[in-house]
Amino acid sequence: MPNTPLALSPIVAGMWRMAEWQLDVPARVRWIEQTLELGISTFDHADIYGDYRVEALFGEALRAAPRLRGRMQLVSKCGIRLRSPEHAYRLNYYDTSSAYLRAQVERSLANLGVEQLDLVLIHRPDYLMDAAALAGTFRELTSEGKVAHWGASNHSPAQFALLHQHHPLTTHQVELSPLAMQALDDGVLDQAQQLALRPMIWSPLGGGRLFSGSDPQAVRVRETMEGIATRLGISLTTLAYAWILRHPSRPYPITGSGRIERLAEAVAALDIELDAQDWYDIWTASQGHPVP
Ligand code: NAP
Repeated sequence: MPNTPLALSPIVAGMWRMAEWQLDVPARVRWIEQTLELGISTFDHADIYGDYRVEALFGEALRAAPRLRGRMQLVSKCGIRLRSPEHAYRLNYYDTSSAYLRAQVERSLANLGVEQLDLVLIHRPDYLMDAAALAGTFRELTSEGKVAHWGASNHSPAQFALLHQHHPLTTHQVELSPLAMQALDDGVLDQAQQLALRPMIWSPLGGGRLFSGSDPQAVRVRETMEGIATRLGISLTTLAYAWILRHPSRPYPITGSGRIERLAEAVAALDIELDAQDWYDIWTASQGHPVP
């Protein structure tokens, strides 16, 4: 068992889109500092983000301002082999073999320029996963001090349980938003509560579709949420985070924005407690029908 409990900030900063933000090194350092000042101290990475480039961009900032490392928790993911100019696979596929997991963890450490990752997640369920062998690799990398905690992302409850049986996992990172509610029904969030593991939530704003979507669901949800947000005197972004935070699994939402003011709107949701009628009003708009 890991010797220190996993402690993430209540809102986590997602780094998937960082390469798109076009920040030079001083601006990247400033962005990280401002994020920390908001109380967001956990940064969610993956080996493949930004076509395998984001961790190195973040690492450049940490090398320029090494004092920041001690103020943050670093999360990464691996297990997806994504085709790219330097990765000429015949197709995208998943790989949780010991050799690949070790290679990617060591690559993330080198790119970030750190000694240890606080948390590593298996990014997607690998149908060829040998859970016992993978757990053995988790133990090795933990005993070498390279990874403190392990988790999974996008697994079914049965896939998560299988891995958890072989090695204790500390979180499940899944999609949840007013536009994507599958996790409410597929057992993932029930399992998180059963195991007392707080889930991490990706794409809390539907990847931006909450604001820009022109499909009927997005239009319905936006209209309903705008009415509630106006009544409560909060922004649509804050309301979306408050909707997620209202779930009893005590989730950690992951931001996706590069704009500090939008991260502040996410943090503002920590002071809002939606009542059940507002929560279900958003659920109803998303489903397109009232509760049965
Ligand atoms: P998101 O917050 O749902 O979407 C972020 C996108 O919405 C950004 O492009 C952002 O643009 C845009 N946006 C935010 N506010 C907006 C507004 N008011 N008007 C218009 N556009 C707006 O989050 P996400 O980036 O999809 O995901 C968050 C994090 O979750 C990722 O960084 C990653 O760490 C993690 N993730 C994990 C998985 C997984 O499989 N485990 C999958 C996806 C994501 P601006 O930058 O301009 O604000």
